[in-house]
Amino acid sequence: MEFLQPTTWPEALEAKAANPKAVPIQGGTDVMVELNFDRHRPPALLDLNKVAELNQWEQQNGTVRLGAGVSYTRTIAELRDKLPGLAMAARTVGSPQIRNRGTVAGNLGAASPAGDSHPALLAVDTVVEVESVRGVRQIPIGEFYLGVKRNALEPDELIKATLVPVATGPQQYCKIGTRNAMVIAVACFGLALHPGEQRVGTGLGSAAPTPRRARDAEEFVGEALDAGGYWDNRDPLPDTVATRFGDLVAAASSPIDDVRGSARYRAHALSVMAHRALMWAWNEYRER
Ligand SMILES: Cc1cc2nc3c(=O)[nH]c(=O)nc-3n(C[C@H](O)[C@H](O)[C@H](O)COP(=O)(O)OP(=O)(O)OC[C@H]3O[C@@H](n4cnc5c(N)ncnc54)[C@H](O)[C@@H]3O)c2cc1C
Repeated sequence: MEFLQPTTWPEALEAKAANPKAVPIQGGTDVMVELNFDRHRPPALLDLNKVAELNQWEQQNGTVRLGAGVSYTRTIAELRDKLPGLAMAARTVGSPQIRNRGTVAGNLGAASPAGDSHPALLAVDTVVEVESVRGVRQIPIGEFYLGVKRNALEPDELIKATLVPVATGPQQYCKIGTRNAMVIAVACFGLALHPGEQRVGTGLGSAAPTPRRARDAEEFVGEALDAGGYWDNRDPLPDTVATRFGDLVAAASSPIDDVRGSARYRAHALSVMAHRALMWAWNEYRER
């Protein structure tokens, strides 16, 4: 197998254009598992670790530009105040070793419906910046996931950065697994309050062939908060609102039965997580 190791971004794009079947490798925590189990034997690996600019993040206006090489460990340590939902999700990924190597870009590249980044990215309307020798594309997160482990990348494109809006209100991330650590989500849920726009963002994981938002739930809670003047009066949220919100989140899922959990259990878990996440975030908003 060929091992390509560009040291600059233009070199990486040239290498991908010349070798569209080359598999990019960042942290390697998905790629190496595939290779070790001989599930996949690509003609070439394209190692992006020597491209220094991918290992940086910067804030531009209200958005964090998270380079494709920034690890979960750094996301947690350096960005928990700006991107609390993503940092919470990152804390649940694998183990310290996996978080030291693994990246949000790798999670997007793998596009597993169970990936932990996705619900947090969906809840805040992230944009994925991808590039090829043909130019740059900015893909809204909702258009990035095409199917189980399939994403919108063309064969010559690489993910350069994830553009994640800085939090303007409380955010939450909930995950259910068969144990408390080193576990793939049986179901997971991300939520973000956007007080400026007076709306609530959601993201569901391990709940459908692709990560997705619960749009009816977002609309319902938006209208309920608006009708009661809650964004201004910051009154406690009625339990009936959170319960209905949870039901609508569950209704937005189309989960499967598998070894990790039944579809029915997943839908129920989503309704409970959504109820809790909304209440936790709302109570935090009231105290600000
Ligand atoms: C023991 C273990 C536990 C795990 N636990 C979790 C967990 O709890 N939650 C979770 O979500 N995941 C988990 N994972 C999966 C994995 O750690 C994550 O998906 C991680 O985000 C992958 O990031 P990476 O940088 O290591 O990606 P890599 O393995 O390097 O790449 C993953 C995919 O993305 C592609 N890719 C990488 N970088 C780019 C780029 N710049 N442009 C285009 N494509 C790119 C690769 O070609 C590959 O298809 C676990 C894995 C292991 C081995």
